[in-house]
Amino acid sequence: MGKTALVVDDSPTMRQMVAFTLTNAGFKVVEAEHGKDAIAKIAGGPKVDIVVTDLNMPEMDGISLIKELRKMASFKFTPILMLTTESAADKKQAGKEAGATGWIVKPFNPEVILKVIAKVLPA
Ligand SMILES: [Mg+2]
Repeated sequence: MGKTALVVDDSPTMRQMVAFTLTNAGFKVVEAEHGKDAIAKIAGGPKVDIVVTDLNMPEMDGISLIKELRKMASFKFTPILMLTTESAADKKQAGKEAGATGWIVKPFNPEVILKVIAKVLPA
């Protein structure tokens, strides 16, 4: 059965690139433009197997989104990857503390993201 990925980024171009890559890899993709949108879209939605989120977004950023997701029983153990231009150590630490599983620095590379997903998501 196909797995579902939640892709969150305020850049439509970036979102489309990630969604395209994951769709081609067999995922069903739910797209959201920021944290609040993501929370709204998963409510009553399909079970999400992996989350790929940007950090800097309006309304609700990636760190806040991760904190909110980790409070939910259904997202306690879901792999959450940050995909961001931020490479600062303090940001990474904040992401880790919020519950991020992995951290990928942009520019977006389809091979890298699929490799990381394969590592954190049991087949
Ligand atoms: Mg952004």
